[in-house]
Amino acid sequence: MKKIILFTAISLTIFLLIGAVSAESMFDFYSDESNVENSGDTFVIGFNSVFPPFGYSDENGNFTGFDLDLAKEVCKRNNWTFRAQPIIDWNTKELELDSNEIDCIWSEFTINGREDDYTWSEPYFNNTPVFVVKNDSGIKADLGLALGAGEVSLYELVPAFSVFVRDGVYLPLQYTKANFPKESKQIYTPDTARLICSILSDKTARSLGFGYTQTFQTDYPSIFKTGTSNQYQDIVALGATKNFTIGVWMGNFSGNTVMGKTGSSLPAWVAKNVLDKLEGGRDPAELSFPEPEHWHKERICSVSGMKAGENCRSVVTEYIKDDTQLSTCNWHTLIDNEIQVIYPPEYQQWFRMRKVSGLVEYSQSKLSFITPKDNALFFYSSLNEQTQAIPFEVIGGSEPTLDVYYDEKKAFQNLERPFIFSLPVERGNHTCRIICGTESNEISFTVK
Ligand SMILES: [Zn+2]
Repeated sequence: MKKIILFTAISLTIFLLIGAVSAESMFDFYSDESNVENSGDTFVIGFNSVFPPFGYSDENGNFTGFDLDLAKEVCKRNNWTFRAQPIIDWNTKELELDSNEIDCIWSEFTINGREDDYTWSEPYFNNTPVFVVKNDSGIKADLGLALGAGEVSLYELVPAFSVFVRDGVYLPLQYTKANFPKESKQIYTPDTARLICSILSDKTARSLGFGYTQTFQTDYPSIFKTGTSNQYQDIVALGATKNFTIGVWMGNFSGNTVMGKTGSSLPAWVAKNVLDKLEGGRDPAELSFPEPEHWHKERICSVSGMKAGENCRSVVTEYIKDDTQLSTCNWHTLIDNEIQVIYPPEYQQWFRMRKVSGLVEYSQSKLSFITPKDNALFFYSSLNEQTQAIPFEVIGGSEPTLDVYYDEKKAFQNLERPFIFSLPVERGNHTCRIICGTESNEISFTVK
């Protein structure tokens, strides 16, 4: 029989057999006799006999298992005589092939990494190792779920997403309106759910990630959330109004990535179109989400995050909790009839990199280290000896220049603002002392 190598792992589907067949013997596939000569229409599979449920000996000592059943069916359909021969030493399976002892290896055998070493069938079994823990082990996804640490089905996602448009109440999913479930559960306070609706329906906020495309633009109030698994095996969109929640999953049942096949916005497009069909034509006012009860809207300076003052030019409206005391923006001030932006000293690095207009308020604060913090720990790397350095950033001080001492030795003199410098990465315990006029400060750090 022509030599064929079959088999296994990673992905799914059915294999293809290519073989020269003589059509003489009929349904002789149960012949397990070991003295059958390996020629003509006999199909000899070499298999791992200690790998249940794929190949093993039953209680009577007969070889059985999924792989053998599959091979028998292939023989039956091709009018071949089936014979199974256990591979005693897995390390010498190639020798058995080369010496024509077996026609193929028919066993769980991983293709990945050996693509060119054998002539493979199509993979027929997808094997993904996972870690399993006992229910009471205390190991749970918990909050990590929010970062994608656990698996969530669409069936779970849809009722979970609908919690936001239901004022924080969870209702289990069911397939008919009859016996509508009574056992509801308050997951979030109504105000929290309303705030999340406000965030998820904010088209302006979404534009940073998605652009001002039309995918999420509905003529009525709606919330949307998309998601992907890390290799784009799954792309998910959830969309909801006060009345309906839609969940759309796209992917391959094989678990293969959809990268390059569809845009990740396609599920959102489907969800949006279904919502359009359900809610289109309804008065948008009817569908608006309720305002949080204990929060009110406030004009906020988008640069400082403080309550907008009369000199602030970029203003957004945000929900603020009723009892919050907000101070008015002091970054935007009128100097000589012109609006000036004065940034706090913590912004000096950002200010220098962005080359924005304005000033940095350097001198009104105490001389202090922004980075690193006292007792910081660093690690020396031999890989990038030439480029590594410990960055320092200092704010405050009343004088325009700074002196820096590294382990009591002077490292920099009369450094000008912004006070940004680097020290070498040398193993051991070190100190850095800074002096600005009459003020001084010191921190310790360690390099391992
Ligand atoms: Zn402002």
